Amino acid sequence: MRIVLVGPPGAGKGTQAAYLAKNLVIPHISTGDLFRANISQGTDLGKQAKAFMDAGELVPDEVTIGMARDRMNQPDAAGGFLLDGFPRNVSQAEALDEALKEDGVTLDAVLDLEVPEEEVVKRIAGRRICRNDSSHVFHVTYSAPKQEGVCDVCGGELYQRDDDSEETVRKRLEVYHTQTEPIIDYYKAQDLVVTIPALGKVEEVTERAMAALQ
Ligand code: ADP
Ligand code: ADP
Ligand code: ADP
Repeated sequence: MRIVLVGPPGAGKGTQAAYLAKNLVIPHISTGDLFRANISQGTDLGKQAKAFMDAGELVPDEVTIGMARDRMNQPDAAGGFLLDGFPRNVSQAEALDEALKEDGVTLDAVLDLEVPEEEVVKRIAGRRICRNDSSHVFHVTYSAPKQEGVCDVCGGELYQRDDDSEETVRKRLEVYHTQTEPIIDYYKAQDLVVTIPALGKVEEVTERAMAALQ
């Protein structure tokens, strides 16, 4: 299956993507995680992305689309993938359609995770991620690690993302409304969108998403 996850920052895209990718046996491709891995490895791509991320702005399409395409061209993504955080504007959605067309494949669904803004703010404020791998995600109260500050998955140190500060979150929400939300209409026109109410327990949301994909 080829699936796109959309939703505001903090909606639970990364959390759900991890479970859905496992259930569906497809790779979880997060452009945010790819950027963070590049930053921690000190690559040129990471250096190009960092200032935009710290400001809560989108990394330019020239950088982002190439990186996403390279990842989708890896052998493990040949049979399907779950995209998390890409596309994030209409021109990225068009570039993705173009790439899929070249490969002679199509998307199966776009899952739109719906969460009220006040909940998103609480989720982001408590988010802690692992230094080793930013796809290992926790929350100080909603999904606390067994030992404070330590990743349950790999034992790495947990920290708060630089861009999860209150000021940057406001900017990211604005960017979401102005630049990312329009892709929902773009995909509605292709009849691909399923809205998933994303309040409630992590496993309940996963069940709703899995049911929507049947
Ligand atoms: P969240 O999970 O909170 O929505 P992400 O990890 O997806 O955050 O993204 C963090 C930051 O990485 C974004 O604010 C943006 O700067 C950058 N980024 C991630 N994906 C994209 C993308 N597809 N296009 C442009 N910038 C992106
Ligand atoms: P996104 O990738 O959309 O930015 P994350 O998956 O990183 O969102 O989740 C944001 C924060 O909310 C994390 O701290 C995560 O542990 C927490 N979280 C995820 N799903 C839920 C949920 N259903 N209820 C409460 N907290 C959640
Ligand atoms: P309240 O009764 O005050 O609304 P809840 O217990 O329903 O509080 O939970 C508050 C938030 O915590 C909810 O938005 C929900 O998403 C999140 N939450 C509750 N239980 C879990 C859980 N087991 N895992 C992740 N998030 C949870």
